[in-house]
Amino acid sequence: FMGESLMGEGRYVTGVLARKRGGLERMAFPAHAVVLASGGIGHLFGVTTNPGEANGHGLAMAARAGAVIADAEFVQFHPTALNVGKDPAPLATEALRGDGALLINAAGERFMEGVHDLAEMAPRDIVARAIHREVEAGRGALLDCRDAVGKSFAERYPTVFAACQEAGIDPATQPIPVAPAEHYHMGGVLTDANGRTSLDGLWAAGEVAATGAHGANRLASNSLLEAVVFAARIAEDIQGLMPTPRSAYWNEMDSEPGLPSQRNTDEREAITVLRETLSRNVGVERSADSLRQALVDIGQAEARCQRVSIRNMMASGRIIAAAALKRAESRGGHFRADYPDADPAQARRSYITLDEVNAIAEAAADQAAGNSVSNAMGS
Ligand SMILES: Cc1cc2nc3c(=O)[nH]c(=O)nc-3n(C[C@H](O)[C@H](O)[C@H](O)COP(=O)(O)OP(=O)(O)OC[C@H]3O[C@@H](n4cnc5c(N)ncnc54)[C@H](O)[C@@H]3O)c2cc1C
Repeated sequence: FMGESLMGEGRYVTGVLARKRGGLERMAFPAHAVVLASGGIGHLFGVTTNPGEANGHGLAMAARAGAVIADAEFVQFHPTALNVGKDPAPLATEALRGDGALLINAAGERFMEGVHDLAEMAPRDIVARAIHREVEAGRGALLDCRDAVGKSFAERYPTVFAACQEAGIDPATQPIPVAPAEHYHMGGVLTDANGRTSLDGLWAAGEVAATGAHGANRLASNSLLEAVVFAARIAEDIQGLMPTPRSAYWNEMDSEPGLPSQRNTDEREAITVLRETLSRNVGVERSADSLRQALVDIGQAEARCQRVSIRNMMASGRIIAAAALKRAESRGGHFRADYPDADPAQARRSYITLDEVNAIAEAAADQAAGNSVSNAMGS
C-alpha cells in the first residue's frame, strides 16, 4: 500500500514509502526504477463502474513528487450503467444497443432520435449527455431490451442479466434504469513512448499513465491493449539498470506518527463530499462555476483529512477539476456547458503540475470568498 514516492536529489525517484493496509509501520523500498501501475480514478466519483481500488492514489503520488500530469480533464463516462444504487455501478454493455435495444424515458419516449443521426448508436459522450439530461430533468432514462433481446437475455447477456436480477429487474420484460457513470481516465501521468514520466526513475503504465494513445476519448478495449504494449516497452527500457538491494527498511521515515490506520469519521465524510462533488460538478457536463465549486468543496473536505492516502484522493480530484477549468472548450469526454463547441485553437494536449493545480484551487477559493463577502454586503 504505497503512500509516497521517495525522492532523491533533484527530480529523481529513488523508491516508494509503503504501509501495510491496517498497520501503523511504514517501510521504504529503495529502487532504481519505480513503475507506477496503480490504475484509474473512477472511485473518486460518486457514480462509477470502477472498483474502490481505482482511487487516484498513484496519480497524486506522482504529482506530489513533481511529475507532469497530462490531459487530466479527459474522463470518459459510460452512458449506460445500471441506475440501481450499487457502488460500483454494474454495466449494461453497449452490445445491447448494438443489438437494437432502445433508450426511452419514463414516459416511454425515445429521446436519442432528436439528438443524433445515429440515435442509440451515437458516440459514447453524446449518448451519456443525452441520458444525463433526461435524468436531470426528472424524466428518467431506461434501456428497453424487450423487443431487441427479450427472452434470450439470460443466455446472451448473463452478466447484465445477473446484475438486473439482483436489483429485482427482469430485463426480458422490463426496461432497465440507466445513468452515465465514470468509466475511464484518458489523462494521467505524462509518459513518453517508453513509459518514462517527467521524473527520472519513474515509469507509468496502464490507466494511471497518459501516453496520448487515447486522445480525448478512448475507444472501447484500447486500454488493455495500451497497457500490454507499454508494459513491455517499460520492461525493455529498465532492463540493464543496476539492481537495487532487495531489503526494505522499516520506520525510517515516520511522517504519520501515531495515526490509526482506519479512516476516521471526518475522513469518511470528506470522501463522500469528494465523490459527490466530482460526480455533480466535474461530471458529464461541467462549467466554470461548477468546477470552481468542486475545487472549493475539495479544499474544505481536505482540511478534515490527515492521512496521506486520503489526501492523495483529494489531490487527484483537484487535479481533474483544475485541468477541466483550464480547458475552455468541449472536446471528447470533456464537455463544458459554458463552452459547448470545440475550439480548433485548443486542439492540443494539456499539461499541469500540482503547483499550478493548487494555484487554480486557491484562486477559486478566493473568488468564492469574495462572492460571499459581496453577497453579505449587498444583503
Ligand atoms: C467494468 C469495466 C469494464 C471494462 N472493460 C474493458 C474492456 O472491455 N476493454 C478494455 O480495454 N478496458 C476495459 N476497462 C478498462 C480497464 O479494465 C482498465 O483501464 C484497466 O483494468 C486498468 O488496468 P491497470 O493495470 O492500469 O489498473 P488496475 O487493473 O486497476 O490495477 C491497479 C492495481 O493497483 C493497485 N493500487 C492502487 N493504488 C495503490 C496503492 N496506493 N498502493 C498499492 N497498490 C495500489 C490496485 O489495488 C490494483 O490492484 C473496463 C473497466 C471497467 C471498470
